[in-house]
Amino acid sequence: MEDCIFCKIINGDIPSYKVYEDDDVLAFLDITQVTPGHTLLIPKKHVADIFEYDADLATKVFAKLPELARAIRAINSDIKGLNIINNNGQVAYQSVFHSHIHLIPRYSSDDDMSIKFADNSALYSPEQYADVQKAIANHLTN
Ligand code: 5GP
Ligand code: ZN
Repeated sequence: MEDCIFCKIINGDIPSYKVYEDDDVLAFLDITQVTPGHTLLIPKKHVADIFEYDADLATKVFAKLPELARAIRAINSDIKGLNIINNNGQVAYQSVFHSHIHLIPRYSSDDDMSIKFADNSALYSPEQYADVQKAIANHLTN
């Protein structure tokens, strides 16, 4: 897609530090290197976000994650864990609208990666959980 920075990386119009490539996906170093080894995995097909994947594309892209995660972990014995993050939509901190999955190796709990989940469980009754459960389940096809 024209004016897409990741399509330009796929086409070689913009340089990148590629770590893996096949017919369907490309993995390359994120320019920011939140932690050393921070890698992006992208489909070569331009899709903006997770909402545009079909199952076939998801299989091709997400199936590469375990092998890529192990390869990243293997670069440094100080890597103790790895966050896999996929931002979808501006509100979810997506800034490049060609879908991508961040693999961010973790060296310690106070390295340069941060993520915080609120615990709102005290606000939920069993009925409220069930309402949300049913609402989501009703939109799934099987
Ligand atoms: P998002 O915020 O959309 O989840 O992540 C987009 C990521 O793309 C950012 O972490 C940013 O550093 C990375 N990025 C943006 N432009 C480039 C680029 O030209 N080259 C590389 N390697 N990464 C980029
Ligand atoms: Zn693109």
